[in-house]
Amino acid sequence: MTSVTASPVDFASLPRAELADDGGRALDALVLVTADICGAVAQAVAAGYAVMPTGGLTSAIGSFEYAKDGVAGFNGVVAIRPKGALVAEVVDGCTPPEQLLTHQVAIDAANGLIAVGAGLTFSQVNAALAEAVNPCARVLVDLTSIGSAYVGGVVATGAMGPLRMRPSVTLEAVVLADGGEARVLSGDDLDAVEGLQGWTGMVVAAQFRFYEVPSSEFGLVLPVQGSDVDAVAGLLAYLEPWTQVNLPGAGGHLGNGDTVLNGVELVSRDSLEDFVNHAPEPARTKAQGLLQSCEYAGADMLACITGWSEQTVDDVLFSLMDPETETIGGVMIEYGIGFSSGSEMETFRAIREGAPDLARTKARVKPEGKMKPWTSSTDINLAAPADTGAISDVLTAYADYRAAIRALAKEMAPTGIEIELAAYGHLSPHGIDPHHRVTVFAPEGQDAALDEARKAVLAFKRTLIHELLNAAERGGSRITGGEKGIPSLVEIARAAGGEDRLPAELKTRLTRARDAVMAAPVNFTFRAPAELKGA
Ligand SMILES: Cc1cc2nc3c(=O)[nH]c(=O)nc-3n(C[C@H](O)[C@H](O)[C@H](O)COP(=O)(O)OP(=O)(O)OC[C@H]3O[C@@H](n4cnc5c(N)ncnc54)[C@H](O)[C@@H]3O)c2cc1C
Repeated sequence: MTSVTASPVDFASLPRAELADDGGRALDALVLVTADICGAVAQAVAAGYAVMPTGGLTSAIGSFEYAKDGVAGFNGVVAIRPKGALVAEVVDGCTPPEQLLTHQVAIDAANGLIAVGAGLTFSQVNAALAEAVNPCARVLVDLTSIGSAYVGGVVATGAMGPLRMRPSVTLEAVVLADGGEARVLSGDDLDAVEGLQGWTGMVVAAQFRFYEVPSSEFGLVLPVQGSDVDAVAGLLAYLEPWTQVNLPGAGGHLGNGDTVLNGVELVSRDSLEDFVNHAPEPARTKAQGLLQSCEYAGADMLACITGWSEQTVDDVLFSLMDPETETIGGVMIEYGIGFSSGSEMETFRAIREGAPDLARTKARVKPEGKMKPWTSSTDINLAAPADTGAISDVLTAYADYRAAIRALAKEMAPTGIEIELAAYGHLSPHGIDPHHRVTVFAPEGQDAALDEARKAVLAFKRTLIHELLNAAERGGSRITGGEKGIPSLVEIARAAGGEDRLPAELKTRLTRARDAVMAAPVNFTFRAPAELKGA
């Protein structure tokens, strides 16, 4: 509800947060779980609290970090979390988004619109659409945490999944609470919320356009030789026509009944090997089969292709094949493995997501006798033309980064420092963002060596971003940011040597983000980076 006079909150009696930032430091905050975000935010602001919006808590960007003196004058920090539910409650389709509770949805099927409360996940939103409209109706937000991240958190982080579409591509409106009456933002004003991590206010609800997708989903895994950047680039350039998602009008059918590839994801053989050692069945046996395929094909990476189609996975394979070469973009199909039914797709996802999840988890756990690991992942999304040379140029920058990290690992081994590299993530030509996670493990007491490794990795990462900016300029590609929203842009700007060196589109987004942060109440902006506060 928009009401700012909701039942009074007794802040003194709220529990303390059991939250921690990425470095493992406890966050000193109260926690308030509520179905009435607007009322809670207004009371928190009036009572002199800094507000940290929280969602599904699936983000790993150190977003809870704040400088103590930044909140001077406040009573403290209150973490406000929208109340969720097991299933979404469907209310009258005419209900305005600003009147939704955090677990409610309002579906306007005639206009292809769904308004959703901030405390739902997109799995729940799509389940409500399937029930009320059609099993193929979807909001096209596909990050791999759609079952655990909340709508508010996804909008606030500007998250993207394999489709490489930011929420704003299908967002109609957002309801924002920042202390007074809730405001409904749309059009260009969405820039004042998307990707801003809650630094300008708290997302109460959002309204999305939804679409119908072809009736069956498939997965196809092709072993590839990642060090052969031309071969991978050839595959991506070849697949480009199937990865173009031209959105019809809201509620319309995607892909004219043809096959749509909604993701080309990379999983490195190393991370798959690690996964096999920990995975439950049936994913383990299937992953072992994929490792065998890598072995036969002499491959060090897997390209995991997903899509929607009206055809069977065998027919899809046939339709993707170049009849002259009997390959898919130069990649032999004889070692490819297809997945089609619901349970097979679950296994496919368990493998595709399991490998990166393991790397993320490992990076958070302090091993016996060692310090807490330090970790850093790359995140820069680049839309390339269907040109093998241009894509190859981009992939070469990543190959150089991998080589630099491996050399560093070798050089630092005598100090007891271990450096692990896991590559996974997005290869769709209109969204090349293969995350490369580096994790550094150091024996207790080796602070100086850990610091040295950390600085070297960050320097290589800056070089990578530089190289990507150069490759984009040479090859006619477009850097579109990253999946951590504005923090990704800030990182790219720092690596580029300043905002002025950014492509015009990104520079404009950063300027708009700064304007939004500077206009927002300090109760929210206390966590924003200095660059956005005019410093
Ligand atoms: C297994 C796994 C897979 C993932 N896959 C992807 C992926 O494919 N793509 C991707 O982009 N990310 C991915 N992520 C990262 C994460 O899921 C996303 O960043 C997600 O959008 C965070 O949503 P959340 O609800 O968990 O937000 P939280 O982690 O709770 O918060 C994230 C940030 O948003 C702010 N925030 C939260 N709720 C609100 C609100 N209502 N209003 C305003 N600000 C708010 C918080 O203050 C914080 O700064 C993955 C994470 C995991 C663990």
